[in-house]
Amino acid sequence: MPARVVFGAGAVSQLAAEVERLGATRVLLISTPGRAQMVRSVARDLNIAGIFDQAVMHTPIKAVEAAREMAKSLGADCCITIGGGSTIGFGKAIALTSALPIVAVPTTYSGSEMTTIWGISEGGAKKTGRDPKVMPRAVIYDPQLTLDLPAGVSAASGMNAMAHCAEALYSHEGNPIVSLMAEEGIRALAASLPLIVQAPRDLEARGSALYGAWLAGLTISTTGNGLHHKLCHVLGGFGLPHAETHSVILPHALRYNSVAGEALRRIARAMGVQDAPSGIWQLEQRLGLPMKLADIGMKKDDLERAARIAVQAPYPNPRKVEYQPVLELLHNAYEGKKP
Ligand code: NAD
Repeated sequence: MPARVVFGAGAVSQLAAEVERLGATRVLLISTPGRAQMVRSVARDLNIAGIFDQAVMHTPIKAVEAAREMAKSLGADCCITIGGGSTIGFGKAIALTSALPIVAVPTTYSGSEMTTIWGISEGGAKKTGRDPKVMPRAVIYDPQLTLDLPAGVSAASGMNAMAHCAEALYSHEGNPIVSLMAEEGIRALAASLPLIVQAPRDLEARGSALYGAWLAGLTISTTGNGLHHKLCHVLGGFGLPHAETHSVILPHALRYNSVAGEALRRIARAMGVQDAPSGIWQLEQRLGLPMKLADIGMKKDDLERAARIAVQAPYPNPRKVEYQPVLELLHNAYEGKKP
């Protein structure tokens, strides 16, 4: 993977140097509305052509078109994204049609900064694809910028990263090197997330979680998605929040995929537990995360439709993806049953 990485407390001071390294002089800065002020202060030494501060989750096409138009009318030659997966998603959507280089400064653990995966929502569905153009050219991981990320958002986002690592371990496109990275990512996340929830300003734990997210992004970018990611994608279409959905579904998807014995053993080993699905479930309880789809906006009446969509097109997964057991998985996740 070609991205250049600058890592460490205070690393964001290297932002101007990274832009210069790309030869860019007209930067478009991207953020969510809530982080706009913080982003402006981080980028005060840069030559900014403009700021798009309207990034929202799931990159809706209307907002994407506005961002693309802004990049074009400003004559931007580089995008800097400072924020989580939603913000990075806008940089990627611009790069997809313009090939503008991206410098990503991630402030959550989504791992998107390390992937060639883009996603854009239109008409209630999210289209995703892979394209090397959208891979950020440089990534700056600065744990200091994450100290204010609320405990709940941190925990859910960390479980999103954990899911990337977990599915990489049984992916049909996996390999022994990616599995090493996945196991190390799970170890780093399982160790750091409880510390972050206890003390959100623990700089060392924040650094470990970003390291886990880096590994997680690399693993998901180099392997295919299994049942877990496909189901979360389907549930996103019902308006559910991204990271929390990953968190609720993960232990149930792993139980569904119990046939992937070696992968589950490696997840358990990285976490220091006996059984991966129940170990993940207990970790999530400890982190104070929502445990039921019912609590994050899913309607019971929609479970059957979600199961039908999830089994529509066949895809590689350790265990065959079939309607009845998938519906059962969704019911268990809806009710928050221990897997
Ligand atoms: P997010 O980017 O929506 O951020 C969650 C919330 O945290 C937002 O309100 C944001 O403003 C706030 N926030 C971010 N950083 C903060 C900070 N340092 N301090 C305080 N608040 C902060 O959430 P996310 O889970 O990172 O990203 C979800 C999106 O990313 C989804 O659209 C998902 O599809 C996408 N995603 C893409 C990939 C990929 O490879 N393409 C991978 C994972 C996720």
